[in-house]
Parts: sequence; structure tokens; C-alpha cells
Amino acid sequence: MSEVEMSVEKHVFEADVAKLLHLMVHSVYSDKNVFLRELISNAADACEKLRYEAIVAPQLLGSDPAPRIMLTLDEENARLIVEDNGIGMSRDELVESLGTIARSGTRAFMERIEAAQSKDGAQLIGQFGVGFYSAFMVADNVDVVSRRAGSDTAWHWASDGKGSYTVSAAEPADAPARGTRITLHLMDDAKTYTSRWTVERIVKDQSGHVPVPISIIEKPGAEPAQVADGTALWTKQKSEISKEDYTDFYRGVAGQYDEPVLTVHFRAEGRHEYTALAFVPGSKPFDLFDPDRKGRMKLYVKRVFITDEAELLPRYLRFVRGLVDTADLPLNVSREMIQESPLLASIRKGLTNRVLTSIEKLAESEPENFAKLWENFGSVIKEGIYEDFERHTQLLALSRFRTASDDTPRGLSDYVKDMKDGQSAIYYLTGDNLAQLQGSPQLEGFRARGIEVLLLTDPVDSFWVTTAPDFEGKPFKSITQGAADLAGIAKRDSDAASSETSPAVAEFVTFAKATLGEAVSDVRASDRLTESAVCLVAPEHGPDRQLQKMLQGAGRIEGAAKPVLEINPGHALIAALAGSPAEDHAFREDAVKLLLDQARVLDGDKPEDPRAFAERLSRVFGRALQANR
Ligand code: ADP
Ligand code: MG
Repeated sequence: MSEVEMSVEKHVFEADVAKLLHLMVHSVYSDKNVFLRELISNAADACEKLRYEAIVAPQLLGSDPAPRIMLTLDEENARLIVEDNGIGMSRDELVESLGTIARSGTRAFMERIEAAQSKDGAQLIGQFGVGFYSAFMVADNVDVVSRRAGSDTAWHWASDGKGSYTVSAAEPADAPARGTRITLHLMDDAKTYTSRWTVERIVKDQSGHVPVPISIIEKPGAEPAQVADGTALWTKQKSEISKEDYTDFYRGVAGQYDEPVLTVHFRAEGRHEYTALAFVPGSKPFDLFDPDRKGRMKLYVKRVFITDEAELLPRYLRFVRGLVDTADLPLNVSREMIQESPLLASIRKGLTNRVLTSIEKLAESEPENFAKLWENFGSVIKEGIYEDFERHTQLLALSRFRTASDDTPRGLSDYVKDMKDGQSAIYYLTGDNLAQLQGSPQLEGFRARGIEVLLLTDPVDSFWVTTAPDFEGKPFKSITQGAADLAGIAKRDSDAASSETSPAVAEFVTFAKATLGEAVSDVRASDRLTESAVCLVAPEHGPDRQLQKMLQGAGRIEGAAKPVLEINPGHALIAALAGSPAEDHAFREDAVKLLLDQARVLDGDKPEDPRAFAERLSRVFGRALQANR
């Protein structure tokens, strides 16, 4: 064995990678062209990383300062070679980047596939692109030879995509002077990727706006011919850019393969100058609900990529993808300096305003696209109602809500316009799912009066409603909290008399209160019920029912306030119970406790003591049967 062969190390892929590769190799996804976008995008990233490192270490550029990406076609050997003169990878970086799933998007992708248990993997590949490993959709063997900028040694990574890969030292003569050369040994059905015409078309379609020039070498030894000039799209005039150009660029910058639902491109002039190009994706990015809630907007200085961690937008706009390029920062700005720079604060403000006004315009001019945007990102935008004090009114006005009688989300201005005489608040009901909310007894009195109630099902809803300012002078009010104050508003079919509280019912309420004692904070006759006999609400002050449950679930409050049991004085069962003989004490006690458990069940909870509940129910059943005999 030669020395070189002995130093070949064999590694097994991380389990997730192996699974992903299996999927790639067996992919039935028809648009295999995406692999080229992924490799070119990595090559461009590598050139941008080098440019950034070279700001403080210019010697890294040596005598070859201009970035480039080269595609060599080798029909005879059925190979496609993608080469860049970017930052390159050390041995450890090769193992880390190509042997494990490093990027969170790919990990999320795997989780989805597992959750879906299925072949839709192929479809997901199409939607999101999964980076380097997509090479195995077209190649049965991949060689990566890379030399990190500034290093004498080069490394060779090789794999057939079947569970393992090798890493060995590369012959310096066979390695690029700097950067990475990826050789794809094309599968039989992928030989078309050695055709000049095919490759050129794909590059122009998909990657024409990558900010690094791309050339094609038609066969080994031929002269390179440039097919994309590396002009940054965002520096062009809007009038020179087509919708397709924007979409291609979006796909590259966002790593998403859908169509953006909104594109915002502008140049800010005046005290601070910068250009921004931002997109709202047409579908939810994988990392939307990552706990770090990080944005992904990129910061460039004079067309040099600096960082994607500058947080150029507030967290509630983290779904926006794109970049800001400014000439007003020094190129060698440190990432720490960026955070404190007043320019950045100004960019953040300007960009946030611009994105929000563009969304507002979209709502007016393209309601369907806006509806799509809201469906995907409304639950994120609503975080801003409690996080962005300056803009909370603007965000409320932008928000759309389903209501108890309308399944199409509508805005608050519409809601306010439809308010009934005597109605002073915007009513809402929070919970986990729409169907359960629709069946809530607390809604009945509102429905009977034609009063709209917002149905809020996002977890974030329970929080913003507690801090939201009034909207057009109307406060928000939970219908599961405090008194309903509906008595003053006329019902649609005015049989108001039936809900009058008779002396017998008043006496029954007093009895119920005495019986339930500490289990509730109050028992009272209700004007919010029309069909159900009972319901639970929260006391006037403090969290409403849903928030209370959420806080309790998270262990955030102990000994939560006891609920109020409301009784429908117009309900036949209540009337009958109120009329039952007071001596029948045991029966009435059973009935009251059953009513409380019934209210709990209607709230989506369980009876507090299931055994006692079952016994009570049996006793009451038994008695009803006896009476019937
Ligand atoms: P992503 O580009 O989203 O990080 P990829 O799967 O496309 O994910 O690539 C994984 C990693 O491999 C990259 O983050 C990078 O560190 C490394 N890499 C891939 N291609 C190159 C390249 N041409 N030059 C330098 N590093 C590369
Ligand atoms: Mg990539």
C-alpha cells in the first residue's frame, strides 16, 4: 500500500445525512437542475466569505483577487466540475460541513420528512433545496478537493452517497490554488449536464444574479466563456429588473424555491444611504418558529457581504428575506461595532417602515396575496403588537381575524364599523382550535345579539390582547372574563323576558354558591347564555380563562383565581331545578356539582374528581328513571 492510500480515512455519515442521501439518490423529484443552484450558491458564499476575511488579511487574496466560479463540462468522462476560488475548506471543515447536517434548514427538512413518513420528501426537496447533498440527485460519486485560503495543504473528500465518505490529503498539484473543486460523476440519466446549452440555460435561469461572475469551460482545456457577469441585482434600476429576475434572486438569497408574495426594493437617500432588497416568501420558511427567532437579512457594505446576524428587522418580521447594502459603513467594520452603530438603527427603522407600508399597500391592491401572507405570517406579525410599542396601532390595523360568524379573516376597522348600538368593546375569545371556540357557550349571548366576537387561536393571541391599546377608541374585552354587560344590547329575536331572573332562580344561585364554596369565586345569573345552562368565566381582574390555563400549564402561576360559574336563568333545566323542593337537599347538591363539571367540560377540561362525577351522574340518572316508572 502506498503512503497516500494508507492515509485515507474512512468516515461514516451521521445517521441523518445517510437518510438524506438515500432520499437524494432515490429522488423522483423531476427538477434535478436545482443541484446546480445549490453548488453555485455555495461557491458564491465561499467567495463572499473570502472577501470578508481579506478585509483584515489581504494576503489571503494573493495574486488572484477577483472572485470567480467555473463550470467545466467533460462529456467524454461524464463529469461536471464546479470550481470556485473562494475561502476553501480545511480538513476539519470538510468533515464538519459535508459529513454532518450543519444547517438548521436541512435538519428541519429531515424532521418534516419523518413527520410526513413519506415520499413527499421529493416534493419538499423541490420547495426548499437541501444544499450540498442535492449533488447526489445527479451524481453517483462526488469528489471535493479543497484548499483553505492561506493554507499549503489541500484535502480530498469523496463519497458515493451510500453511508460513508473518505478524507485524505490531496496531491497539491491536483488541487486548486485556493478554493474548492467539486467533481460530479454523473449518473447515466444525468449526462445532459455536460451539454453546454443545457448548463448555460440553467445557470442563466437560476443563478444569473449571483454576485460572482460565472464561466463555462466547454471541455477540459478550453477557454472559459463568461455566462453571468456577477453584477449585484440590487444595484440595478428597478425598471431594468424583470419579475423573473427578482424571483431567481430571491430563491438564491432565501434558499426557498417558491415565489415571493411581496418584493420591496428601494434606495434610501439623505443622511444615510443604503439600498434594500427584501422579499416576503410565498410559504413558511423552516426556521420560522426556531426558539432564537433570528432574522436572516444580510448586510453588505459596498457589495461585500458582511454578516447575516445584524438583525436588520425586528423579530416579528423575521420571515422577510433579503439584504441591505450600504456605503456608509467601513468595510472592516466589526460585528460588534455594527450592533451599536447609529446607522444601523436608522436602517432598521427605515426598512421596518418600508416593509410594513408595502404590506399595507399589498392588502389594498392585492387582497389575495395579502391573505396568503397573513395566513403564513400573521401569527408572527402579531408578536409585534406587544413588542413594538411605537407601531402597535399600525400592526393592529394590519391584523386580520376570524370571527364567530365569518370564516374569512377581517380587519378591526370593519369590526368597529359593524358594532351594535350600546356595544363599547371589541370582544374576543381565545382558545386552541376554531371548532372548539365555535361551540363555546360563552358565545351564545353575543350571537343572539348579532355581536361579532374575534376567535383567536394562535398562542401569541393570549399575550397581545392583554397589552394592546384601544383600537379606534374601543378596548379589547375577553368574553370569558368579568361580567358580559350585554343586558343593554337588544337581542335579534327579542324574547328578552325569558332571561329575566325570577326570585326562585335567585334563591337557587345563592344555594349553588353556598354548595360550591371554594371551588368557584362566584355564582351568578348570566346574560351571555341563551342555549347552554351554564358556563365558566374568569373574574374581572387578571388573566382570562385561556391565558390562565396557559400560564398554569407553564407553571407560571400557582393557586390561580377561581372561575365564576354563570347560570342561564332562562334555561328549562335551571328553571326546573330552581322549582325543586328545598328539602331535596342531596339531590340539589348533586345537581349543582354536576352543573359545575358540565361547565368545565364545555371549557375543554375534565371534571375535577371523575369518580365523584360518575357517582353523582348515576344517582341523578337513577332518580330520573324512578320518577318515570
Ligand atoms: P448551506 O450552504 O446552507 O450552509 P450546504 O449543504 O449547501 O448548506 O453546505 C454546507 C456547508 O459546506 C456550507 O455551509 C459551507 O460551510 C460548506 N461548503 C459547501 N460548499 C462549499 C464551497 N464551495 N466552499 C467552501 N465551503 C463550502
Ligand atoms: Mg448551500
